[in-house]
Amino acid sequence: LINAPAETSSTREGFVRVRGASENNLRAVDVDCPRDAVVAFTGVSGSGKSSLAFGTIFAEAQRRYLESVAPYARRLIQQGNTPHVGSITGLPPAVALQQRRGTPSARSTVGTLTTLSNSLRMLYSRAGTYPEGVEGRLDSDAFSPNTAAGACPRCHGLGIARDVTEQTLVPDPSLSITEGAIAAWPGAWQGKNLRDIVRELGYDIDIPWRDLPEEARSWLLFTDEQPVVDVTPQRDRIAKPYKGRFWSAKSYVMHTLHDSKSQQMRDRVLPFMESGPCTLCGGTGLRHEALAVTFAGLSISEANALPLAELTAHLAPAAAVEHPTAAHRSSSSGERTEVSVTISRDLIQRLEVLVDLGLGYLSLSRATPTLSPGEMQRLRIATQLRSGLFGVIYVLDEPSAGLHPADVEPLLGVLEALKDAGNTVFVVEHNMDVVRRAEWIVDVGPLAGQGGGTIVYSGPVDGLQDVPESLTAPFLAPTTTPDTAEPREPSGWLHLEGIHRHNLVGLDADIPVGVLTAVTGVSGSGKSTLVSSVLAEGVGRHVRNDTPADLEPADTEPDEDAVTGAVVAGISGLEHIDRLVSVNQKPIGRTPRSNLATYTGLFDAVRKAFAATPAARAKGFGMGRFSFNVPGGRCETCQGEGFVSVELLFLPGSYGPCPTCHGARYNDETLTVTLDGRTIADVLGMTVDDAEVFLANIPAAARSLETLREVGLGYLRLGQPATELSGGEAQRIKLATELQRARRGHTLYLLDEPTTGLHPADVVLLLAQLRKLVAAGNTVVVVEHTMAVVAAADWVIDLGPGGGSAGGTIVATGTPRQIADLDRGTSITAPYLAEYLD
Ligand code: ADP
Ligand code: ADP
Ligand code: ZN
Ligand code: ZN
Repeated sequence: LINAPAETSSTREGFVRVRGASENNLRAVDVDCPRDAVVAFTGVSGSGKSSLAFGTIFAEAQRRYLESVAPYARRLIQQGNTPHVGSITGLPPAVALQQRRGTPSARSTVGTLTTLSNSLRMLYSRAGTYPEGVEGRLDSDAFSPNTAAGACPRCHGLGIARDVTEQTLVPDPSLSITEGAIAAWPGAWQGKNLRDIVRELGYDIDIPWRDLPEEARSWLLFTDEQPVVDVTPQRDRIAKPYKGRFWSAKSYVMHTLHDSKSQQMRDRVLPFMESGPCTLCGGTGLRHEALAVTFAGLSISEANALPLAELTAHLAPAAAVEHPTAAHRSSSSGERTEVSVTISRDLIQRLEVLVDLGLGYLSLSRATPTLSPGEMQRLRIATQLRSGLFGVIYVLDEPSAGLHPADVEPLLGVLEALKDAGNTVFVVEHNMDVVRRAEWIVDVGPLAGQGGGTIVYSGPVDGLQDVPESLTAPFLAPTTTPDTAEPREPSGWLHLEGIHRHNLVGLDADIPVGVLTAVTGVSGSGKSTLVSSVLAEGVGRHVRNDTPADLEPADTEPDEDAVTGAVVAGISGLEHIDRLVSVNQKPIGRTPRSNLATYTGLFDAVRKAFAATPAARAKGFGMGRFSFNVPGGRCETCQGEGFVSVELLFLPGSYGPCPTCHGARYNDETLTVTLDGRTIADVLGMTVDDAEVFLANIPAAARSLETLREVGLGYLRLGQPATELSGGEAQRIKLATELQRARRGHTLYLLDEPTTGLHPADVVLLLAQLRKLVAAGNTVVVVEHTMAVVAAADWVIDLGPGGGSAGGTIVATGTPRQIADLDRGTSITAPYLAEYLD
């Protein structure tokens, strides 16, 4: 609505000038964004911010880059990744740091992602202290468990050894072999076959397992021998004698794990394996030669395990050495050499950036799959600071996600530093503390989906307050009256005693029942550990657990203490709770095959309606015909995904539209059937808002759609692939799915930062939903940084005082008012809450 007139802006210097942007819901918008500045893109969820910043500006920069470096990629790009835009001028190369994409591999760690591990290995190789008598220095590769030179020979660098034991293979030793003592063996015919072989081999298969001699037990379970014997089947008179090969339980399990093509078979044998730290390398994954080398008294694996803040302090004396000497390849220690000083100084500088970004509690060895999306993004931002790039646009997705207000200041410092290095920073943000500090705002909207897609305002931050149409304007100046009510009284308490996990060491915590509790504290203080790990597992063990199945990569190793199961020494008050639901931000699916419609179950109702149409009945099409997951009605080229995966070396895991159905997912014959003039593919293409009108007569679908709209997801398309959804959207879909069940009662809901990705106006909607759950008698516990939510809670548990080992205690509990009245020294949350409430 308000933007500088085209004549003047087309001549503007120092601007990225976008003309006719029509990606997704954008309505052929023109907008100018300054370069060499921090620009905030704001607007309600679904308004089109990402479509502009990522889908148009970043995508176009990327397309130009690819065209210049890889002509062969052009063909693939033209298939659909070209943004719908008239023109963009003044566009530098762009780098996107997004939260939603790119699940890192299980072996990636904080150290490998930031490349700090490379430098640390160099330090140990060139400047470490070697044991007496060792000739020559190790190559820096020898300090990495991911290389042949460094990997522990037993666990191949994983640090974890998996093995079978008598206990896992034979869970019930009172059974005989005939009764199935060797549970790991296959069932059915194959299992009977093995028993016959064992009998032919001369073992007693009818006495309890534990009565067999030790030697026999160990041979049957662990031998690598595979004798072949003539077997005469006894129970089955028709069967002929045959030759049978023996497999010990261990060789059967190993063979199945390594060679079976059937995932089902592999899943069946997995529980017979036990994993634990490798005994040879002590879980470090390294060869002992490498572990024997120290720097400042620590082995490299000890240094990798230190929190980054402590590692920084630990290296400080090495960096401060005066008059360092030249390096000698032959001397046993290089700790006082120039190389040592140079590398440690460089490491410290880079570590300090991470500490500034509130990540000082992480260690280099921490596996990236265990990090939250916000932590991942901040790691990437910090890494970029070192890249030495200038003249590029960084496009960031809610960099404040996961940050306590106290940590926002250093983040702003890092964004400034990127800019000062000669770059442009575009941030899609909801956190007004960040937005206020930008130099320019592009407010997109005014509403979501069809109701959005225009530029409400583009200009210096101050000007936004004069734009009445903007839904962002009222939140920019914190003058809005807080949405708080008298706190509710708890109907009971859950008492947890002796909590042990991560940085919670012997903590006791009391959680009020029947109210909304906000858990606060700086990043790394232990909020997620308390809520998503301890409460979820501790309570989940005793009550029905309806948490949606995790879709985390299965090859990540569980925490050590998650394996032993010791979380809480004692819990009381469980009689108040009969069900647990943890609503997390993990994806609702990992392929385009899962989507909103299938996840919530509303698609079943839609398919039923299509199958009931006269056209479908005439053709004999049942519900299955309208599924894209089974052959019949779906397009076979893409097997119903609508996309085919495009393998590009430097663009991991891209999808392009299917050349046969062009994204419709169905074959032509299925698409001849319509419901009120729309095909099943049309319905999947509708937004929740549109579908609510269209499907109003199908109650099961209408109820789902209403709750989806109520959590602020009215703009999502029913068929929007899970791969396109952000963590926050996935979480709200789960919440809506739960709300549509509309149970009364004694459920404990756990949510980790449910406001991620939500505009302040959407936060108001979400709060109303959480209050509804509480009003129905349930208990809600949220991890939150948004003061609007904390202020509206009935109870606050503030963790701290710092992150990692400097945190892990409860520094304050009380009503929001009581917390706000504390001094900053007691609770770092207090001043921010007070600012919001007063
Ligand atoms: P925001 O970033 O403001 O939350 P988006 O730019 O992600 O909003 O979405 C704007 C609109 O475009 C929404 O209606 C959304 O459903 C739609 N949309 C987003 N991604 C796609 C896509 N890949 N294909 C089609 N529509 C999309
Ligand atoms: P918050 O939610 O307050 O940001 P977390 O509960 O995520 O804090 O982290 C608390 C501490 O526990 C930190 O020191 C963190 O590094 C550690 N931690 C969290 N998750 C894991 C994990 N999966 N493995 C090892 N340490 C972890
Ligand atoms: Zn090992
Ligand atoms: Zn297809």
